[in-house]
Amino acid sequence: MTAKIIDGIAVAASIRAECRDRIAQIVAKGGTPPGLAVILVGSDPASQVYVRNKMRACAEVGIRSYRFDYPADVDQQTVIDGIEELNADPKVHGILVQLPLPPSFDIARILRTISADKDVDGFHLYNVGGLVVGGTVFPPCTPYGVLKLLQHEKIPLEGKNVVVVGASNIVGKPMALMLMHHEATVSICHAKTKDLAQFTILADILVVAAGKPNLILPQMVRTGAVVIDVGINRTADGKLVGDVDFEGVAKKASYITPVPGGVGPMTVSMLLVNTIASCERWQRHELFDLTNYRPRLEIAQP
Ligand code: NAD
Repeated sequence: MTAKIIDGIAVAASIRAECRDRIAQIVAKGGTPPGLAVILVGSDPASQVYVRNKMRACAEVGIRSYRFDYPADVDQQTVIDGIEELNADPKVHGILVQLPLPPSFDIARILRTISADKDVDGFHLYNVGGLVVGGTVFPPCTPYGVLKLLQHEKIPLEGKNVVVVGASNIVGKPMALMLMHHEATVSICHAKTKDLAQFTILADILVVAAGKPNLILPQMVRTGAVVIDVGINRTADGKLVGDVDFEGVAKKASYITPVPGGVGPMTVSMLLVNTIASCERWQRHELFDLTNYRPRLEIAQP
């Protein structure tokens, strides 16, 4: 068997074309075009590239983006004050804080300062809760992109054995929840999982997001499985690779995503989709009822 290679660049391009149409409709009705605020703390080179790519993608589809750079030694309160100003700014529909933040920052505190109504990365506790009970407004972009790829290829999820390798808050856990909502039988593996292969070999659909090159070898994959490689790793010679032995696994799988050109382009496209969805919600006055929700309340330690 030779796997069909899922072309994330092509699927992302079609999603961006839909984004342009949705923005044209917003503007045609006299609405404010969607706006995304991007906050970058420090000068991490990879983060600089990610932020530039996100802003370029915004410009391509007609989203206005606003960049806020802070030095690495900025006081956390200054960033919190900046986010609160953006929460109140009517031309901003999405707020994104580029991670990682410098180690002195309380990431959870920063993320819960972002209004749940502008949380286009889907990391706010309110949106995470929505993901657990179903019907979240802003699904986190990377697993949302994986889901779109599976749906684009018309790969059925109901009743399928799905194994997610990686249990981070950004990729693995939300991915597992989303797939559960589609009635898949989901197992989550992580760095402490004993004998990873005994789980992966059972997968009809294997989603890998561990950040370890060559973690998944052909003998760990069932013939005909769908393999989605979220990992991004740079090898010593500067090449980008995923977590899956692409050449070997492609001979056994029915579908596989390449790295680069698979999940990566989808992540940014889903950020655009969430920002547009947020703008449309604001136009419909369809915001969360957070009357009794106090995002700044500190949770007492037991
Ligand atoms: P993370 O470091 O926060 O989490 C990694 C997860 O993998 C953890 O749950 C860990 O327990 C698990 N893990 C690590 N080693 C393992 C092993 N040997 N066996 C089984 N599980 C193992 O990383 P993350 O933010 O979730 O990202 C994971 C990977 O996905 C990274 O390579 C990252 O660059 C990539 N990523 C790609 C995109 C994209 O758009 N394509 C987006 C986000 C992350």
